[in-house]
Amino acid sequence: MSSTTYDYIIAGGGLSGCVLASRLAQALPSHKILLLETGPDSRNNDAIASPGNAWMITPDYYHNYETLPQKHLEGRRVALKTGRALGGGSAVNYGGWTRGDRSGYDEWADVVGDERWGYEALLPYFKRAETYPLPGLEAQHGYDGPIKPSRGDRGYLLKEDVREAMLSTGVEVNEDANGGDIRGVARLVESWNRRRRTFAAGDYDLSKGEVLTGRTVARVVLEGGVARGVVLGDGKRLEARTEVIISCGALRTPQVLMLSGIGPRSQLEKFGIEVIVDSPQVGENLHDHGMVSFWYKLRHPEQGLAIGSEKFIPFEAPPMDGSHITVSVIGIHATSRGSVSLASTDPDELPLIDPAYLATEHDRAVIRTGAKIVAQMMESPAGQRISVGETPPGPFAPLTSKTSAREIDERARACMATTYHLAGSVAMGQVVDAECRVKGVKGLRVVDASIMPVSIGAHLQGSLYGIAERAAQMIIDAAENA
Ligand SMILES: Cc1cc2nc3c(=O)[nH]c(=O)nc-3n(C[C@H](O)[C@H](O)[C@H](O)COP(=O)(O)OP(=O)(O)OC[C@H]3O[C@@H](n4cnc5c(N)ncnc54)[C@H](O)[C@@H]3O)c2cc1C
Repeated sequence: MSSTTYDYIIAGGGLSGCVLASRLAQALPSHKILLLETGPDSRNNDAIASPGNAWMITPDYYHNYETLPQKHLEGRRVALKTGRALGGGSAVNYGGWTRGDRSGYDEWADVVGDERWGYEALLPYFKRAETYPLPGLEAQHGYDGPIKPSRGDRGYLLKEDVREAMLSTGVEVNEDANGGDIRGVARLVESWNRRRRTFAAGDYDLSKGEVLTGRTVARVVLEGGVARGVVLGDGKRLEARTEVIISCGALRTPQVLMLSGIGPRSQLEKFGIEVIVDSPQVGENLHDHGMVSFWYKLRHPEQGLAIGSEKFIPFEAPPMDGSHITVSVIGIHATSRGSVSLASTDPDELPLIDPAYLATEHDRAVIRTGAKIVAQMMESPAGQRISVGETPPGPFAPLTSKTSAREIDERARACMATTYHLAGSVAMGQVVDAECRVKGVKGLRVVDASIMPVSIGAHLQGSLYGIAERAAQMIIDAAENA
């Protein structure tokens, strides 16, 4: 048998790809598993492991993008990036660990008509991924999973004042915002442990399968409607006896599908790609969590209350000289839907990305409401102890509780940025079925953020580890019952 023949080939060694490769290799020891990642290996890499480096990681570990001009953001292009290394986004992200609200998963189950994607059914898989830092929460949390996040217990000098300011708006304390109800003031759990990153490539055991980095998957080989393997960027073909699984993330997975002949007919024909499955929803339904930030000038900057390095903040902001703090409003249940489409047939070329930020009145109303709460919070006695007021960018007036809806809308259009939570572009129910199998062909699945049919109110990684665990178990069950 050729050394280029495997049972399972996983394209994309990001967060989901690493979970799959690890779990399949553990559960199916007689199967040959291959994980292919276009970026470099990230294991034992200090730049990636250390929290201090989190926002300064070399550009080599990112795919850097710009969106298409955004219709509802005054035609602005928004800078985006995704991880490009073994571990994908989990190797470069900031570490916020949030699972999201049960309502998002229950909506997902409704949309696809399958209870396995509802919150209660996913709970064992969320637990399987984590060793949760807060004891005694067995009903909601796991205590022997590979990812070992820590509780946001760092000693910020402003913590108590910020908490008091938030509570003054009427929001209640939530002791475990990762227990299926995200409402309230909570401490952020983070995927940092003893000052090291805890992430998919570093903490899931990848020793039992084969891992090849620096390999771009150009397309899936489909013969007679069955996935037989993949072709790499250099033209080399690798065979898959059982399945190919695409885990290239919400921006590249639709690209790989389209380059393989699965996508909207008109788009494939435009680029001269043979149409194997006319699947109009490939690349559609893209969503992100847009964010608008407000910059508050500290009343006592001399007390060393804020970060003083411009390198630490990747967003457009007043000078980062320790004189300001940021309060952000993020629309985590976005209803705006955009798309990913091909720019060319070159697998290395970035696709065209349109997250359609603020396309719906719902999403604009969320930002307005959030901004009002921020103003209320910062005008409270505790907020006044912290800050003398907001330093707005450009022509805008400082945010106050009197700021009009029109002014907040203008500000959002001018300042909305990404939170890097791109998802939904190969939606379950549309492009893949409830077992993550691509409709219209055999032997091909998609497992990554692109399958999320709805916007989950999480930073995504805490959610995605559970989703990848769920999918891995489906694949293992299918293999054991074959
Ligand atoms: C800067 C940044 C900050 C973030 N902060 C947070 C945070 O604080 N908390 C949080 O929960 N989430 C955060 N996220 C988001 C989170 O990391 C992602 O949602 C998550 O990693 C997505 O997982 P995935 O498996 O869908 O894809 P990814 O993890 O993106 O993995 C896809 C992988 O496929 C590879 N690939 C792509 N195309 C090909 C190809 N053709 N051939 C081979 N390989 C390919 C990519 O290089 C990548 O490694 C952040 C992301 C970024 C980029």
